[in-house]
Amino acid sequence: MSQRKEVYLVIGGSGFVGRHIVEQLLARGDIVCVFDIVQRHHDVDFYSGDITDESQLLDVLSKTGTTCIIHTASPPHGAKDPSIYYKVNVDGCKAVISAAQAAGVTKLVYTSSAGVVFDGGDVVNLDERAPFPEKPFDAYNDSKAQGEKLILEANGKGGLLTVALRPAGIFGEGDRQMMVGLYQAYQRGQTHFQVGDNNNLFDYTYVGNLAKAHLIAADKLSSPPLPTSSHETLTIDSLKAK
Ligand code: NAD
Repeated sequence: MSQRKEVYLVIGGSGFVGRHIVEQLLARGDIVCVFDIVQRHHDVDFYSGDITDESQLLDVLSKTGTTCIIHTASPPHGAKDPSIYYKVNVDGCKAVISAAQAAGVTKLVYTSSAGVVFDGGDVVNLDERAPFPEKPFDAYNDSKAQGEKLILEANGKGGLLTVALRPAGIFGEGDRQMMVGLYQAYQRGQTHFQVGDNNNLFDYTYVGNLAKAHLIAADKLSSPPLPTSSHETLTIDSLKAK
């Protein structure tokens, strides 16, 4: 018996990470649609909309027959008004979950952030079991943490399987934040100073690898491996090995 072909809706698919996910899905011959407030590419079915409007989402999910949502949308870090983060990343996640359940979507992959466990101090060797900090670092990270919590709590409810990924700094083709920010610091003459002993560490992930991680996570959601112990943390490496 032939299996139903997956239909992917990439929310935020016009963005940096979302675009790489779209390209990788297209490259392997999958059916892909994009939902975003802006259109930057014209090679996939595009639906203009805002995730905070559940009815827009529901309409697109029904129209496209989406089976798997990959949700990468977020306002960029550094907004003047922090309320936008709670509106899009918390209320928006609620709307995505609710619309997905109502439309019979079976899989939801969410792009969270490594910032959800950052409290401003050193973060060394933490894994997914680390709790969120008692005092969130800022509104962006707090809203990403709350969004991630909602997504993970929805796992197994209303026919939906969910997973969240936590990338750190992302670099690669199409980046409009990191390299631009570094160049602006250079232009402002802010590169004449050294903070600390020049041995500060930071995690960076190549955007193509992150996009691939989203595809692997979506694929593995179909038949999630059962944890062998209640303490096992499922990472991309452990999922790939199963
Ligand atoms: P991006 O700004 O390039 O892309 C985000 C996309 O979401 C944009 O196309 C934007 O139009 C869309 N969007 C924003 N609000 C929306 C709304 N209300 N409804 C529909 N679409 C909306 O950002 P990115 O760098 O590709 O980041 C993707 C994800 O990765 C985000 O969730 C972000 O929090 C997370 N993340 C990014 C980084 C990084 O370094 N770029 C690091 C960690 C986590």
